[in-house]
Amino acid sequence: MLPIAFNLSEKFEIPVILRPVLRVSHAQQTITFNPIPRIERKANFPRNPQRWSATPRFRFILHKQLNMKLQKIAEEFNSMISLNFIENDREKAVLGIIAGGIGYAIARDILPELGLQKDIPILKIGTPFPFPTEVVEPFIQKCDHILILEETEPVIELQIRDKSKIYGRLDGMIPNEGEMLPEVITQVISNLCKRYSIPVGEVPSTESLEKMVAGLGLPIRRPTLCSGCPHRSSFYALKKAFPNGIFPSDIGCYTLGMNMESVDTCHDMGAAITIASGLYQAYHQDGKEIPIIATIGDSTFYHSGAQGLLNAVYNGAKFILVILDNSITAMTGMQPTPESGVTADGHPGTSLSIEELVKGCGVKYIRVVNPYDIKVMIRETQKAYKYTQQPDGGMAVLIARYPCIIYQKEQLKVNPIKVEIRHLPPPERGLPQVKSGEMDKSLLPVFQDEVCGQCDTCMIQCPEGAISKTEDGYVID
Ligand code: SF4
Ligand code: SF4
Repeated sequence: MLPIAFNLSEKFEIPVILRPVLRVSHAQQTITFNPIPRIERKANFPRNPQRWSATPRFRFILHKQLNMKLQKIAEEFNSMISLNFIENDREKAVLGIIAGGIGYAIARDILPELGLQKDIPILKIGTPFPFPTEVVEPFIQKCDHILILEETEPVIELQIRDKSKIYGRLDGMIPNEGEMLPEVITQVISNLCKRYSIPVGEVPSTESLEKMVAGLGLPIRRPTLCSGCPHRSSFYALKKAFPNGIFPSDIGCYTLGMNMESVDTCHDMGAAITIASGLYQAYHQDGKEIPIIATIGDSTFYHSGAQGLLNAVYNGAKFILVILDNSITAMTGMQPTPESGVTADGHPGTSLSIEELVKGCGVKYIRVVNPYDIKVMIRETQKAYKYTQQPDGGMAVLIARYPCIIYQKEQLKVNPIKVEIRHLPPPERGLPQVKSGEMDKSLLPVFQDEVCGQCDTCMIQCPEGAISKTEDGYVID
């Protein structure tokens, strides 16, 4: 699809959007590229305000040109059989499927399983906009009923004018929310076949598989921050400092701070700051001051946090913003950040400082803390709140700086911490003593220097104070 998209873009001087949906975006496979043609064209900007300055008069003309382009592209799509094609075509069918994206792949898998590969034609739509009407309408005429399978919103379905034959999301046949899973689609196709007397095989049962998995008694594991992740310590400290605070946050590994009750919101990138601003203004208007501690990753802050911060400062918001600076874009695969001094393709770039950017947004209170120094981080968070409460106070920014330990694993290994596990609590604690040899080995804690790094969090968190630090490392009593 990509070469076609680039060619269309060149030919019609128009941006083309390729819309991969959830499962496609989460999949990976090795791809062999055909030769990639180079466009031998030198940079050249011919002045042409009618084309490039979208002022009201020119906009009218440009809009007209755009409509003409879309009409021409639709004509191309009508004959683009590599992307819009029918499988198992026939003169008449009781039920036909129009599918796009992953919906098509699911239908291809399911129909043979239900013994329907010969009975149900599928029209695959690869170019839903502009709509290839001349391909779609004749297909609809051939079928008594049509099922539309597409992720996520009903783009194809909405563009079909006569919906009298159509089943899809709009009539609720396909659930309007959640992922279009194979088991859901299997059931829908099976139900429609029964309704219209099309012989259909049994829906394959997953009962025995489900029973087998349930029998394994596997614990439910939510996605969680890596062991030793610096964000763990940050979230622990923030919650400790303000157990009743409000914690707007953002998108990244650190969204998993939800498991530590230190993340209350997560929306679009940068929303930690804009939501915190709104919350501050709402409470302030009601004469209430409440600790609001927003968290955002360094990459997210560079990407779309600074605008929100500027706006917060300008409008007099007073809350704490904690920038969780792990020096990398961890969640999406360890891409560099603007602070790294390396561009996305590995070339040297100009390193930008978070502190300078925060200062440039008008923030007067900036502190850098090591999140593993939990006591200091708790203290600094409380001091920052005091600053926000002063009559001449304002926004307070803490930069919790420690590299992602998955990215920096090699560097951190140079200084591992040794742990000695004794399992013998001192007699004065009155706790039962268990001889190590008698313990179930699988229950023994294991310190992993490659993941724990320099994290002291368990020692600080243990309510029994059972983990202590010695000259050689930790001792667990
Ligand atoms: S040092 Fe303790 S808290 Fe930190 S990762 Fe290891 S076990 Fe977890
Ligand atoms: S990848 Fe890095 S930042 Fe993300 S959870 Fe793991 S240690 Fe933390």
